[in-house]
Amino acid sequence: MVVGRLAPSPTGAQHLGNARTFLVAWLSIRAQQGHLLLRIEDIDSPRIKPWAVDQAIEDLQWLGLDWDEGPDKPLGDRKYIQSERLSLYSHALEELKSKTRIYPCICSRTDVLEAASAPHEMSDGPVYGGTCRSRPVEEASRLDSSFAWRFKSKNEVVSFEDGFRGQLSTNVGEALGDFVVYKNNDSPAYQLSVVVDDHEMNVTEVLRGDDLIQSTFRQNALYDFWGWASPRFVHVPLVVGTDGRRLAKRHGDTRLSYFRDRGVCPERIIGLLAHSLGWLEHPVECEPRELIEKFDLKRIPPEPFVVGPEEVKWLES
Ligand code: GLU
Repeated sequence: MVVGRLAPSPTGAQHLGNARTFLVAWLSIRAQQGHLLLRIEDIDSPRIKPWAVDQAIEDLQWLGLDWDEGPDKPLGDRKYIQSERLSLYSHALEELKSKTRIYPCICSRTDVLEAASAPHEMSDGPVYGGTCRSRPVEEASRLDSSFAWRFKSKNEVVSFEDGFRGQLSTNVGEALGDFVVYKNNDSPAYQLSVVVDDHEMNVTEVLRGDDLIQSTFRQNALYDFWGWASPRFVHVPLVVGTDGRRLAKRHGDTRLSYFRDRGVCPERIIGLLAHSLGWLEHPVECEPRELIEKFDLKRIPPEPFVVGPEEVKWLES
């Protein structure tokens, strides 16, 4: 059975861009009669907003998206909120240490600070130069300053078959470099937690925005390290503002909660998104369920969907 997941990060409100990706991820699993999980990715503690967890769940439910397993529907004692899953990540860290695939890095850089969150937008940063690469694992216990555990990337070209983009290749060592998997011994980074979770939850399909393609190469390196099978990855185009940049606050209010408060019905949002995805000739109000038959990755335009005043006007009309 195909297993997918919706994995919101409660670092702020969910907006139209998140809604579009969640809709595609939901439809893909429903069209394959698969099993869908909800996981809350809340390990980036300074950036997490406590209100955003409940709001993300409300937003998804309001849109008409459901899941078969999640914090409200646990399977046995499985936890779905990353901050409640820390022991799994520290176990994974210990394995990386014992095989010396990581090293403690004391270079103070923004990518260390940002490692807890998925590297959307510009934060993918420059390639790390490898200054600390030869520092032994044992030295970590003698360091008084804070440090990050970096994974040693291999200098070789690797590929994967993206469910939307086709075959993608890169040299992880050269193009992406050694990446952070943990900060000190207590803060897992996004790259590690997402792999540990997707594996432990038997996820077989990861459908997300195409700004995370580079992260997939990093995550595949971790799958290889543990000898786990990678899921099928599908990266879909993002929603951008009229300036071509990833949808954000600067583009005005596109939060789902904002539209909800203004009385916009969720079927309008779904209809607009379905039109943007190539499944409806014109935007018309509809429910996610009605799109299962129309779902077709091949019809999704390869370029980002631009949300401007016209689109917002249609939603509010
Ligand atoms: N929680 C991550 C985000 O919202 C999801 C990344 C992923 O799907 O792997 O950015």
